[in-house]
Amino acid sequence: MSSKEFALYIEGLTVSFDGFKAVDNLNLYVDKDELRVVIGPNGAGKTTVLDLICGKTKSTSGSIKFKNKELTNLSEHQIVHQGVGRKFQTPSIYENLTVYQNLEVSYPKGRSVFGALFFKMNDDIDKRIKQVAEEIFLSDLLYTEAALLSHGQKQWLEIGMLLIQDPELLMLDEPVAGMSVKEREQTAELLKRICVGRSVLVIEHDMEFVEKIAHKVTVLHQGKILAEGDMKTVQNNPDVVEVYLGH
Ligand code: ADP
Ligand code: MG
Repeated sequence: MSSKEFALYIEGLTVSFDGFKAVDNLNLYVDKDELRVVIGPNGAGKTTVLDLICGKTKSTSGSIKFKNKELTNLSEHQIVHQGVGRKFQTPSIYENLTVYQNLEVSYPKGRSVFGALFFKMNDDIDKRIKQVAEEIFLSDLLYTEAALLSHGQKQWLEIGMLLIQDPELLMLDEPVAGMSVKEREQTAELLKRICVGRSVLVIEHDMEFVEKIAHKVTVLHQGKILAEGDMKTVQNNPDVVEVYLGH
């Protein structure tokens, strides 16, 4: 396959921890505008795949290309600069700051706040913060301290802190864990909206949720792909049934 056809192009990716291959010769191709869900039993290597893509863990071998650029030899910081954003399993927000301030500190840096454009720029940032708050259902809570948000709202805020940086690849590790039914529905709606114009990679356990959002599902087992395709195909795959239901 030509790497030009995919936004994210992973081939032969392997990482071994003291001889144990947590990810084993993985090939994974994700398109632009695609929302891919990775499922698999505990210990399958799902989180490790995200760690490898964002540079937190270094691969033993293999290639990870994003928009045709090799990521495996870049630092975590450089990978963020390539437009890759990643949300961890537990929300990492600033509890003692407001929703507004959390979004503000996440606004991409590197543009001077001095000079004639100062006021104009602050105005743009303010608009962008409010736009993102709207997207993540937190418009009414802009000036509320993050500590007071529900667990689900904290998860949304962290997604917002990534969205404000406008990543081209967004990776989310179990985003609906601990959410109420209503919050799960809203998150499904949010994820369907935000995959437009970018690639989204989601790890999730909740099958009802996966069915709602996934364009394509990849099933990981012992660091390898067990099955891949639309939800129906994957659910009816005998290997997948065996891994999930045992014997
Ligand atoms: P999943 O997210 O699918 O539940 P993980 O990717 O977290 O699985 O873990 C896959 C396997 O790799 C597990 O057996 C885990 O213990 C192991 N593992 C993950 N990270 C490390 C590490 N940094 N050092 C050693 N072993 C690790
Ligand atoms: Mg995990």
